[in-house]
Amino acid sequence: NKEFIQQSEKLSVVGELAAGIAHEIRNPLTSLKGFTQLLENKYSTDREYVEIMISEIDRINTIVSELLLLAKPGRDDFRAVDLNRLLRNVSMLMSAQANLHGVAIKQENAHSLRDVMIYGDENKLKQVFVNIMKNAIEAMEYGGSIIIETKMTDRMIAISITDDGLGIPSHILQKIGNPFYTTKDKGTGLGLMVSKSIIESHQGDLQIESEEGQGTTVQVILPIMKNPCETAES
Ligand code: ADP
Ligand code: MG
Repeated sequence: NKEFIQQSEKLSVVGELAAGIAHEIRNPLTSLKGFTQLLENKYSTDREYVEIMISEIDRINTIVSELLLLAKPGRDDFRAVDLNRLLRNVSMLMSAQANLHGVAIKQENAHSLRDVMIYGDENKLKQVFVNIMKNAIEAMEYGGSIIIETKMTDRMIAISITDDGLGIPSHILQKIGNPFYTTKDKGTGLGLMVSKSIIESHQGDLQIESEEGQGTTVQVILPIMKNPCETAES
């Protein structure tokens, strides 16, 4: 699939550039926020404006943090990751937000995941599943469920996250994963692009299937670590 490959190459160039710029933006942003917070106390009559300024600074911060995750996949943080534990952690992390929106998170066949290890960056992988589950919750305005399922071959594991939310029309599906493409008022349009790039840096793949009005399945495919003890050391 040539078009697809070109697309992901383009994204990785954009990603490296973006991560570089994001890094440069972060420091001035931190001091900007600090001084704005000082203003908030000083000019209490204009508090409303200052609050808007602070929330806009926070928004830039969110975008910058997401871009920074694209930084070249340093292999330094790669180690053996227990996938079952990671998925349970992420589900726990998301459970408050899920409850608030009437969403139930169910993990099917968790027992089959026992002892499945991935060689990777735990925090970045966590970020991927957080992004996917956040999108799922945001797609289910009136509640619903998220089902996590796994399928395994001897080399790869496929983790699918399915929601029964509003789904994605096919003309929009093609644009998803393009930098800054979002259909949300407060979206960044970076979550899936960053997630895809992280999964690709783990020699894996991320795919989206969706049916408008039915729901969406995001599938993350990752190589299984053959011999955790040996590879983790080397
Ligand atoms: P953001 O969430 O900030 O908009 P993402 O990259 O995470 O950015 O997602 C891009 C777009 O993909 C979303 O704006 C939404 O239109 C669509 N999308 C992603 N996940 C889902 C989902 N589970 N259900 C419906 N639409 C989705
Ligand atoms: Mg998102």
